[in-house]
Amino acid sequence: MVDVSWCRVSSEVAAADARLVAAVEATLAGAAERWQQHVRCRVGCTPCCIGPFDITVLDAARLLRGLAERPEVAAAVGRRARQAWDGMAPAFPGEATLGILADDDEARQAFFTRFGDVLCPALDPATGACNLYEHRPLSCRTFGLPVRYGDELLAPCERNYRAASPAEIEAAAVNPDPADEEGRLLATVAAGGWLAGDTIVAAVLASTHGLENL
Ligand code: SF4
Repeated sequence: MVDVSWCRVSSEVAAADARLVAAVEATLAGAAERWQQHVRCRVGCTPCCIGPFDITVLDAARLLRGLAERPEVAAAVGRRARQAWDGMAPAFPGEATLGILADDDEARQAFFTRFGDVLCPALDPATGACNLYEHRPLSCRTFGLPVRYGDELLAPCERNYRAASPAEIEAAAVNPDPADEEGRLLATVAAGGWLAGDTIVAAVLASTHGLENL
């Protein structure tokens, strides 16, 4: 069992996180509508739900709130998460008892590649829907579209923008968090004396420990 009691944020940070998520969603929805001829995202399209990736403590706390708010799916999600985590934990690059990733990009990438065929435990394999969709990590929200952070352009999902030229993709890119509100909130969490490490979805959902304190 992973001890995720560190995946907590204050109510003020949780409220600011909700505003951040709403702003990110509004930006992405606008971009998706503007470029709808290039966007094929839909429920049941699940390649982006396969393989672990790093998430922040804000994402982790949000996922745990989602689990607490959706008791009807919590047992199944927890079961899938424990199954996924049990397979990955021995190779986890970091503090496995807490599910905190080491600050080592090379080790993280090797781990993500090794377990790149493991389904996200929040994904309902029967329906292809995310059981924690409203509470999903920011990376899940931004993955499909081209996004830009400063000079860095992140390519869209390979299923989207297939007929678009590089220039069109560049023109379509949006910055979902131009003021780096996520960075400011993470700094606030760290300054408050709480852990602000990165983790993965399976580690967070493999335990319900600490839910009562969220
Ligand atoms: S990001 Fe890609 S894989 Fe995920 S739903 Fe959109 S098109 Fe499908």
